[in-house]
Amino acid sequence: MELDIAAAEDSLRLYEHLARLGDAHAYTPEACAVFADEIAAIERLKRERNAVVLAHNYQRPEIFEVADFIGDSLELARQATQVDADVIVFCGVHFMAESAKILNPEKTVLLPDLRAGCSLAESVTAERLAERKAELKAIYPDLAVVAYVNTSADVKAESDVCCTSSNAVRIVNALPNRNILFIPDENLAHYVQRNTDKTIIAWDGNCYVHHQITPEEILAVKARLPHVKVLAHPECRTDVLALADAVMSTSGMVEYAAKSSDTEFLVVTECGLSDRLLLELPEKKFYKACKLCRYMKMITLADTLEALRSMRHAIVLDENVRQGAERALRRMFELG
Ligand code: SF4
Repeated sequence: MELDIAAAEDSLRLYEHLARLGDAHAYTPEACAVFADEIAAIERLKRERNAVVLAHNYQRPEIFEVADFIGDSLELARQATQVDADVIVFCGVHFMAESAKILNPEKTVLLPDLRAGCSLAESVTAERLAERKAELKAIYPDLAVVAYVNTSADVKAESDVCCTSSNAVRIVNALPNRNILFIPDENLAHYVQRNTDKTIIAWDGNCYVHHQITPEEILAVKARLPHVKVLAHPECRTDVLALADAVMSTSGMVEYAAKSSDTEFLVVTECGLSDRLLLELPEKKFYKACKLCRYMKMITLADTLEALRSMRHAIVLDENVRQGAERALRRMFELG
């Protein structure tokens, strides 16, 4: 009986918390009761298995409830090296779980749904990169390959150093090389080019989520709300970034919004970040010019619970590939 009362209280608390998102259709009392049970079961299994949950900023709001740490790619990569746990459950997409495994070969890293890939990471393969590198090195002997972390482990292993959206400019400027092949996001490559005097050669990939956001959408919101501060992710198109008050990574946006004296923001990135901001900074207003990432949203509480229960979907890497990718990631930590 006491257990029933505690469960009902947890469910009500969750319902009231998620009501701030204004999505009455998704977060009904019934849905929140199911989520509350799953959250309690995940917390029990985390203790039993000495596991932690790392969650990317683009995850579903209910996933944030079981996360030991929420962040962007750089923060999660760093966090993965510091966790004192036997098991990491990675609520994000495949390349992120791979990065956690690259840096923690002795730990078990679980991805709740193996279909959670990334259109950007899939735009480059190690074979195509090796060919392009050979072509370009004939013209630019000092060429260095800078790989955005949104790449597979074997692509990282073929690269000189990794970067994230928050340190890309810093990494490029810290390298001794003048000529940089920047893979795979063309929009981020163009953003870096505007912030360095080095030669940046862009790959022809993009994130389908950010690339579909248009300047017209931003202008329409600005026409209605001229005072709103526009925060945009550098994976957006150049003509969208030109309309932004600040261009930064997702966690950069969280910090900026928390510290800013402004109170109303237009968040131009994947919608999960707007949800995180709405839940964490209820005193401020966040308008969404965002799109959903179908890969990020494949991760559910039910699959997270099942991954922990049956220890399924462990990331396995070839050791040579892992070591090559680790070299590129660790160089990023040294430089940036
Ligand atoms: S938001 Fe874009 S870059 Fe991030 S996982 Fe989705 S498709 Fe990949």
